[in-house]
Amino acid sequence: MVDLRNQYLKIKDEVDMSIKEVIDSCAFINGPAVKSFQTDLENYLGVKHVIPCANGTDALMVSMMALGLKPGDEVITTSFTFIATAEVIAVLGLTPILVDIDPDTFNIDPAAIEKAITPASKAIVPVHLFGQCTDMEAIMDIAKKHDLFIIEDACQAIGADYIYADNSRKKAGTIGHIGCTSFFPSKNLGCYGDGGAIFTDDDQLADELRAIVNHGMKVRYYHDMIGVNSRLDSIQAAVLKVKLQYLDDYAVERNRAASYYDDAFSAHPKLQVPARYRQSTHVFHQYTLITKDLDRDGLLEFLKEKDIPSAVYYPVPLHLQNAYLSPRYKKGDLPITEDAAEKVISLPMSTEMDEEQLAYITSAVLEYANR
Ligand SMILES: *Cc1c(COP(=O)(O)O)cnc(C)c1O
Repeated sequence: MVDLRNQYLKIKDEVDMSIKEVIDSCAFINGPAVKSFQTDLENYLGVKHVIPCANGTDALMVSMMALGLKPGDEVITTSFTFIATAEVIAVLGLTPILVDIDPDTFNIDPAAIEKAITPASKAIVPVHLFGQCTDMEAIMDIAKKHDLFIIEDACQAIGADYIYADNSRKKAGTIGHIGCTSFFPSKNLGCYGDGGAIFTDDDQLADELRAIVNHGMKVRYYHDMIGVNSRLDSIQAAVLKVKLQYLDDYAVERNRAASYYDDAFSAHPKLQVPARYRQSTHVFHQYTLITKDLDRDGLLEFLKEKDIPSAVYYPVPLHLQNAYLSPRYKKGDLPITEDAAEKVISLPMSTEMDEEQLAYITSAVLEYANR
């Protein structure tokens, strides 16, 4: 699905040198590489504080801890996302409230959020799915009206711009109270292991977040709050520092592949290409088609026979996952999400796709769709 090897080979010398510096210095935990990457990312995002941590899942969990959410508090999020979004809500004893999506962008539907609000609601977690920002102005308005926190899950959308109605822009993850991202290798800004980060403009929250990722410690061996061990290791920071310089170029490459796919598929009656949203740029973490009157699983099988990777993100909505079954939901309750789970297919997407690969993939998809 993603070509990490060729991406690495293009920046091998820089990355290898950066990693070697960490090893030579032996500053493996919270070394200068971490601080330096943190500052670079703050500048890139235009955000006051970046708090590096161990992975995107922890970024979400630590955010909820820092906001002081307590068991019984309800957190509203989308049912059409990676499990981590809801998992951390459940792990903290909070109640995930899963709502439906917009059928074209797959992002959480602000009207569905508004309907789900109760006196126990404390926070909303919008997910910028597949690399395109969700409707943040509408969601910020709802949050203000009901006094709720917003934690943006920007794990798939680092580098995307949210475009306000007045045309001003902010980076994904820097609009709500807190933003979270992941540096998992296949993410748009991926390291060579696990990694993540939390963003905020709030000085006090930043203090809490920084303490929580480091055992709840502001002064060494004095613990004023319950924390966890969730740090970005220095070697990963060294890789990320190099790759961050290329993040915008990577988005251009991904958009180039997406345009090729769009040109090939947009006229086809059985394939719906990804909707582009006026309010956001798209960084194409995934290129996801909606199949119409087409056997989606047959297409998956057909592509597999031709050695073309493809995947379904996500085959089972969270409200129908065994671990999350609740009397609150039954099949049919979130029809748009359930429909998407049956019809979506994601094609290979990376910074390294050449015309030959794109031609091979598109002709295979069209061959199946024309049968
Ligand atoms: C990848 C991802 C996460 C979790 O990130 P990890 O670094 O793998 O823990 C959370 N939410 C979404 C939407 C993701 O895509």
